[in-house]
Amino acid sequence: MSASDLEAFRAETRDWLEANCPPEMRKPVESEDDVYWGGRNATFKNDAQKAWFEACRDKGYTVPAWPKEYGGAGLTPAQAKVLREEMATIGARPPLSSFGIWMLGPALLHFGTEGQKQRFLNEIARGEIRWCQGYSEPGSGSDLVSLQTFGEDKGDHWVVNGQKIWTSYADKADWIFCLVRTDKSNKYQGITFMLYDMASEGVSTKPILLISGNSPFCETFFDDVKVPKSYGEDVPAQVGEINRGWDVAKYLLGHEREMISGADGGNTGTIGAALTRANGEVDPVLRAELAQFDVDALAYGAMGEKFLDEIKVGKAHPAQPNMMKYAGTELNKRRHELMMAAGGSHALEWESEETSGGKPSRNWLRTKANSIEGGTSEVMLNVISKRILDLPGA
Ligand SMILES: Cc1cc2nc3c(=O)[nH]c(=O)nc-3n(C[C@H](O)[C@H](O)[C@H](O)COP(=O)(O)OP(=O)(O)OC[C@H]3O[C@@H](n4cnc5c(N)ncnc54)[C@H](O)[C@@H]3O)c2cc1C
Repeated sequence: MSASDLEAFRAETRDWLEANCPPEMRKPVESEDDVYWGGRNATFKNDAQKAWFEACRDKGYTVPAWPKEYGGAGLTPAQAKVLREEMATIGARPPLSSFGIWMLGPALLHFGTEGQKQRFLNEIARGEIRWCQGYSEPGSGSDLVSLQTFGEDKGDHWVVNGQKIWTSYADKADWIFCLVRTDKSNKYQGITFMLYDMASEGVSTKPILLISGNSPFCETFFDDVKVPKSYGEDVPAQVGEINRGWDVAKYLLGHEREMISGADGGNTGTIGAALTRANGEVDPVLRAELAQFDVDALAYGAMGEKFLDEIKVGKAHPAQPNMMKYAGTELNKRRHELMMAAGGSHALEWESEETSGGKPSRNWLRTKANSIEGGTSEVMLNVISKRILDLPGA
C-alpha cells in the first residue's frame, strides 16, 4: 500500500470514528463496568457503549487485523496501526475486551482447523462467547507443564477431572480453553488443548478475593466433566493435535504476554505533568523520579512500536514478548508507586466518593499482580537470559 493510499485510509478512518464513536466512549476507562466483555449474559452499561460496540462489530473493528471471513476487517499491519493511532488520538475505548481476541483467537488463526476458525473466531469477533483460560493449577504455575487435570479417553468423548486456579473471570465465562493431561507417561507431549462449555455438568467455580477488595478470578473444579471430542464437521474439541497441546499453549502465552505488556499503547503514558498539576508543589527528589519515569515510559513506547511492527511481519525474536512483558509490567508497577507517592497519605484513602471508592489505591494494589499474571518477572528474566542473551549457565 502506497503512502498516499495510507493517508487516504487515515482520513477515512478519522471520518468514520467521528461519526461512530460517541463522546462517552472517548473517556478513560474508570471502572470494570466501563469495559464491555461480551458473552451470553453480557449487558451494556449504557446506549453509548452498545452503539460503539455494534458499530465496530459491523465494521470488523473489534478485531481489525483478522480476515473478513472470520469477523475482522482484514486490515494490513500498516492500516491496523493507523486505526490504533487514530483511536488513541480521540481517546476511544476498546469496543470489546476479550480473552478470545487477545489469546485464543491468535492460537486458532495459527493452529485451528477451518471449521474451528469459522465458528469460534466469528463468535469471538461478534462478542457472543466469553472465554476464560484454564492453565494454572495449585501445584503448576511457573512449572505449568507439571499440570495434572486429567482427561480420560472414552472413545467419542473425554471425562475431565481436576482443578485449575487463578482462572480470571471463570464465573462469568461461557467457554474455557483448557490444558488437560491426556497421557500421563509423557510430560510435554501428553497435554491436549481443549475447548469446552463452562455450563457443562461437573464444572464449578469459586471466586477468590484479592487484596484490592475485588474478586476477578476463581478456583475452577472439574468433576467428571464430559467433553465431546467433536462439535461438528471439522470442529474438533482440541486445538492442534491430541497430546500436542503444549505447542499451542506456548504460542498462546506469547500473545498473552504481548497483551499484558501494554506495548500497544497501554503502558506508554507519561505522568509527570499531570501529577505536578494535580498535587501542586512536588518534592524535588520525587520530581527527579517522575522525570526519569517519563523518559523510560517514552522509551518503552518507542520500543513497543518497533516490537509490534516486527511481530506483525513475523520478524520479532520468539522470546521478545517475554522481554516486553517484563519491562512493561515493571514500568506499570513503578507508575502506580509514583502516583501514590505524589498523592501522599490522601492517596491511600479507600472508600470516599471523592476517590470513586479508593480507585487510585485499588488500582495500585492491582498492579502488584502484573508481574505475576501470564508468567512472573523472575521467570521472564530466566527466559531472556537463556533465549535472548544466551548467557552461559542460564
Ligand atoms: C491477576 C492474575 C490473573 C491470572 N489469571 C489467570 C488465568 O486466567 N488463567 C490461568 O490459568 N492462570 C492465571 N493466573 C495465574 C498465573 O499464570 C500464575 O500465578 C503464574 O504463572 C505464577 O504461578 P504461581 O502463582 O503458581 O507461582 P509459582 O510458580 O509458585 O511461583 C512462586 C514464586 O517463585 C518464583 N519462581 C518459580 N519458578 C522459578 C524459577 N524457575 N526461577 C526463578 N523464580 C521462580 C516465581 O517468580 C514466584 O516469585 C493469574 C494470575 C494473576 C496474578
